[in-house]
This record gives sequence, C-alpha cells and structure tokens, in this order.
Amino acid sequence: MLTCKDINEMAGDYLSGDLTVMKRISFKLHLMVCKHCNRYVSQLKIALASLKRMSGHSDSGELCSEEEVNKTLQFIRDNREK
Ligand SMILES: [Zn+2]
Repeated sequence: MLTCKDINEMAGDYLSGDLTVMKRISFKLHLMVCKHCNRYVSQLKIALASLKRMSGHSDSGELCSEEEVNKTLQFIRDNREK
C-alpha cells in the first residue's frame, strides 16, 4: 500500500498519465481509503486544469481568475511541506 508521501510525489505523474497501470491502481486504492490525499489530488487536478486554461491550451475559452490559481497553488505548496 502506498503512503501519503508516495501519493504526494506521484500526483503530478498520475494526473499527466505517466504512471504504469499497476501504479495507477495502487494510487486509486489509496485515494479510496485516504480522505486527505483524495482532497489533495482533486485540488491538484483543478489547479492543473486552471493552469492549462491560463496558458490557453483549452478550447473552452473560459478563463480562471488569477486569484483562484494563486490560492490553489498555495494550497499545493502547503500540502507539500507537510
Ligand atoms: Zn493518503
């Protein structure tokens, strides 16, 4: 079973689809039992989506406010320090 630290380190790869199938399964299993990591990964997912929108890679044309992005980035930094 993965630890919360593993999840923190793997979250970026998981969201960009760089994990092997076995790793993805272990990752998802941890998210199912750990509320903290579950929240962390969904926040990270939102942050990455916002950043993509900011850099114009989305065709939705919907821009996210800078404040919202900064808040999310701060959240990620806070989580990483723990
Ligand atoms: Zn965890």
